[in-house]
Amino acid sequence: MYVVCKEHVELAIDDFVDEYEEAPDIVDLKETKFSDWDPPVKCAECEKHSEYLIV
Ligand SMILES: [Zn+2]
Repeated sequence: MYVVCKEHVELAIDDFVDEYEEAPDIVDLKETKFSDWDPPVKCAECEKHSEYLIV
């Protein structure tokens, strides 16, 4: 699972495919609320605000 900014979505997809050998689901964090989990505020690859969950 990767939480990334818009710029790093493609990188996270590549990493996901390398690791799990299947295509991920891409969740827009702006449109999704989690009842029991707060996603990280920052991108996993840089200091920008996280925007997408690659899972
Ligand atoms: Zn980033």
